[in-house]
Amino acid sequence: MSIASILQEVFGYASFRGPQQDIINHVVAGGDALVLMPTGGGKSLCYQIPAIARQRAGLGITVVVSPLIALMHDQVGALHEAGVSAAFLNSTLSSEEAYQTEQRLLRGEITLLYAAPERVTTPRFLAQLDTLFERGQLSLFAIDEAHCVSQWGHDFRPEYRALTVLHERYAGVPRMALTATADALTRADIVERLQLEAAAHFVSSFDRPNIRYTIVEKKDASTQLLRFIEREHPGEAGVVYCQSRKRVEEVAAMLAQAGIHALPYHAGLDFRVRQANQNQFLRAEGVVMVATIAFGMGIDKPDVRFVAHLDMPKNIEGYYQETGRAGRDGMAADAWMCYGLQDVVNQRRMIDESPAEEDFKQVMRGKLDALLGLAEATDCRRVRLLRYFGEIYGEATADAPGRPKPGTAPSGGSAAHEMASVGAICHNCDNCLQPPEVWDATDAARKLLSTVYRLQQSSGVSFGAGHTMDIVRGKRTEKVLQRGHETVSTFGLGADYSESQLRAVMRQLIAVGALQVFTSEGFSTLHLTEASRAVLRGEVPVRLRESTHQRPEKRSRSRTVPTPAAASLGQDAMVRFINLKSWRSEVAKAHNLPAYVIFHDATLAAIAERAPQSLADLQHISGLGSRKLEAYGEAVLAVITGASPVLAAAQPA
Ligand code: ADP
Ligand code: ZN
Repeated sequence: MSIASILQEVFGYASFRGPQQDIINHVVAGGDALVLMPTGGGKSLCYQIPAIARQRAGLGITVVVSPLIALMHDQVGALHEAGVSAAFLNSTLSSEEAYQTEQRLLRGEITLLYAAPERVTTPRFLAQLDTLFERGQLSLFAIDEAHCVSQWGHDFRPEYRALTVLHERYAGVPRMALTATADALTRADIVERLQLEAAAHFVSSFDRPNIRYTIVEKKDASTQLLRFIEREHPGEAGVVYCQSRKRVEEVAAMLAQAGIHALPYHAGLDFRVRQANQNQFLRAEGVVMVATIAFGMGIDKPDVRFVAHLDMPKNIEGYYQETGRAGRDGMAADAWMCYGLQDVVNQRRMIDESPAEEDFKQVMRGKLDALLGLAEATDCRRVRLLRYFGEIYGEATADAPGRPKPGTAPSGGSAAHEMASVGAICHNCDNCLQPPEVWDATDAARKLLSTVYRLQQSSGVSFGAGHTMDIVRGKRTEKVLQRGHETVSTFGLGADYSESQLRAVMRQLIAVGALQVFTSEGFSTLHLTEASRAVLRGEVPVRLRESTHQRPEKRSRSRTVPTPAAASLGQDAMVRFINLKSWRSEVAKAHNLPAYVIFHDATLAAIAERAPQSLADLQHISGLGSRKLEAYGEAVLAVITGASPVLAAAQPA
C-alpha cells in the first residue's frame, strides 16, 4: 500500500504537507533522517506513516522515544482512534499493565510503542528489543524532541545521551531524530551526540504564516494582558508564559478574577494538580493556561489561539518554540509579548549568576542579545526570526532545494542573509501592519553613555540603570545628593527626555551591545563596551521606535490568513457545528480523550458546511479516515439530520 493511501485511509488527509512525502519515502526505504520542522509542521506523520508502512511490510515495530510521559496517553489514544495499534511504556503504568504491554510487544501486536528515554535504556527493555531484533521485528527508532540531547537546546535531558546504545546495539535499524529547535549549534550537537552523521537532513521552512507576532513595551503587564485577551481572544484557548512560579499564581488569579477561565501550571504545584490543570486545558474549551516554561513541550492541542509572554524568554529558540504552540491547526493565531528594561536586567543576571562555565555563559549572552534585537526591531519581526534560523523570508519554501544545511547556517544570519531580506514585509506582524514611528535617539544615547563613563571615572564604581537615568534627567534623589552626583557634568542634560524614552534608549544600547549589565549580589551595574565608543563619538546613529503606548492603539482586524474554522459558517451550518461539538464532547468524555483527538474543529466545520445526508457524502472530508468513518459515520449523520439523541446523551446518566 502506498504512503499516500495510508495518509488518506488512516488519517483522512488528501495531501502531504511540505517535505512530509520525501521524509516518509526516505524512512520507509530504510534511511536515517534528521527532521527539522517548526511546531505544528506535521512531524508526527513523518514517523507514524513509516511505522505503519513498515509494519505492513512485515518489518515489525517502531519505538518512539519521547520525554513527554504526561502526553503519551493522548498520543496513543489518537492512534487508536485512527485504527492504529499503539501503546506506551512509562512510569504511570502499574507493573501489571507494563507486563501486559511487553507481552503484546513480543507477540508483534503493536505498531508504535512510545517510551521515555530512561525506560528505553534499561537492561530489561533492551533485552526485549534484543529479542525483537533477532527476529527481524525491530523496524524503526523515532527520537522525538531530539534537541533534548543537546546542552545548547533549552530542554537538555542527560538520559538522551544514552540513546547512542540504539545505534551501537541495533545496527541497520533506521533511526530518525525530530525536533522543532533549529539553531545551528543544537543541530550539530544532535548529529554528533546521536551519531547521525550519515542521516539525510530535512529542513523545512520555519515560517508560521498564520501566527501574528506582536511585541509591546511593558507598562502595566497585567492590565495589558487582560486587555489583549478581552479584545482579541475572548473565550478562546491560550497560554500565558511568566518567568516565576509566584508570578504564574498572581496572573492566573488576576485573570480568574476578571472572569477568564485561567489555570496555573508550574513545577512547584503538586503533580496531580498540574496534571488536572493540563487535562482541563486539553479537554475543556477556551481555557487560558498561565505557566512557566515547564508547560507546553509536546502539547499538541491544535486550537490554541494565542501565546502571550508576560516576561521575556531566554532566547529566540525558546520564544519561537513557545509561540509555535499557537495555531497548529493553521488558523489565525497571535504571539504577543510584553517586555521592558527589567526583563533585560533579570535575564542578564540569571546568566551572570549561574554556576555555568564562562564560555557557556558567553553563548547564552549572545542568544539573549539576539532576542533583544528582535524585541527592539523596527522592521519585520518574521524576517528577523527566520533569518536567525538561517532562512531568508519569502525565498525558502519547504520544497525548494538549496536550503541551508544544518550546521552550516550561522545562527544570527550571515551578511548575505542580512542583505537578502532587507525591507521584506510579511503583512502579519506588528511592525509590518503598523510601521512604528522612529526617532533619533543618538543624542540621548550619548548622554547616557557619557554618564556611565563619568561615574566610572570619578568614583571608580559602577551604578545601575535607574540611578544613571536620574542623573541624566537631573533628578535630585536622595542617592544622587548623598553621592554628590549632581556635580557630574552630564547632570540634567537630558531633562527633556521622558523616563520611558531613556529606558527605551537603555534597552536598545544593551540590545546592540553598547552597554553591558553585570550583576553581583543582587545589584545590577552598567558598563561600557568596545561598541560604546562609536556611539559616544556619534559615529553610529541610534534610531528607536517611539514608545508604543504613546500611539493610539488601533489594530487592523483584517487577516490575510484563515480565521478559525467555524467563523465563516452560515446560520444553519453553525447550528449543525454546535450540535456536532456537543456530540464530540460526549464521545471524548466516554473515551477519556481530548475532543480534538476525535475530530478537529476544522473537520466538524467541514461536515457542518456540507450537511451530509449519507455515508458517501462524508467521504473525503479532511481528517476523516476510514476507521473514524466506520466508527462515527452513522452517529455524525444522525446529528446532522436531527435524528441523534444529542440532547438525551447530554443528560446526566
Ligand atoms: P508537530 O509535531 O510537527 O508540531 P503535528 O504532527 O502535531 O505537528 O501536526 C500538527 C497538526 O497538523 C496535527 O493536527 C496534524 O493532524 C495536522 N497534519 C499533519 N500533517 C497533515 C497533512 N498532511 N494534512 C493535513 N493535516 C496535517
Ligand atoms: Zn512582518
